[in-house]
Amino acid sequence: MLFYFGGHYTAMGRHSIQQGMVSVHRMMNGALDASGRPPGSVSLVAVTKTQPAEAIMEAVRYGQLHFGESYLQEALPKQEALKDHGDIIWHFIGPIQSNKTRQLAETFHWIHSLDRLKIAERLNDQRPSGMERLNVCIQVNISGETSKSGVKPSDVAALADQIEQLPQLRLRGLMAIPQAPDGVHAPQAAFRALRQLKEDLLPIPLDTLSMGMSLDFESAILEGATLIRVGSLIFGARQSAV
Ligand SMILES: *Cc1c(COP(=O)(O)O)cnc(C)c1O
Repeated sequence: MLFYFGGHYTAMGRHSIQQGMVSVHRMMNGALDASGRPPGSVSLVAVTKTQPAEAIMEAVRYGQLHFGESYLQEALPKQEALKDHGDIIWHFIGPIQSNKTRQLAETFHWIHSLDRLKIAERLNDQRPSGMERLNVCIQVNISGETSKSGVKPSDVAALADQIEQLPQLRLRGLMAIPQAPDGVHAPQAAFRALRQLKEDLLPIPLDTLSMGMSLDFESAILEGATLIRVGSLIFGARQSAV
């Protein structure tokens, strides 16, 4: 199903993006149906890291509006190339370096990977006042993996309270990237734990659970995901990492 040759984007590749989107939507609807949730209660963020601007344009043509990028330096030229598509909603899902916060605050609509107060304060200070508040999710290290990214579950409530004080940020919810426990099955328990953590944060009104990727988004939807982040199932295997 992969039609990317030497970095060139082929006619067959365009066709496969359409097919990828159709099958992801079919799977989304199936999972929503199976969990008794209304159609449209989960949004698809198409993850385009390592994919060219043409691939994004193609997906836009099929009605896709939310796009996720992991590296600022890679995202900026694509945003520039697509600036006539004013209704694209850009989601940043990668690790955040503090010297990149200004450009993140100026060019993205959502940040999923917020995991410390210092970064939140910088984004708040640097969000241009004429723009809508920046939507943010706290990234949680939900399954206690060795990976460094994400806040410990026990520290989420304190960080959420602090973010709530920042007027240019709008805290929307929680995000996690749990690994398959055995490399095969979906991390169902971790998805469930993230949902529980969000419910425990009441009365802070959060409407977003950002969880689920190509291999496990159906399970994430069954556990309550409202945003899924899907790349390779739509665009094919990633080209070499940037
Ligand atoms: C790359 C990435 C995705 C998409 O991964 P696929 O397996 O290609 O669907 C989702 N979330 C994050 C944070 C990513 O870095």
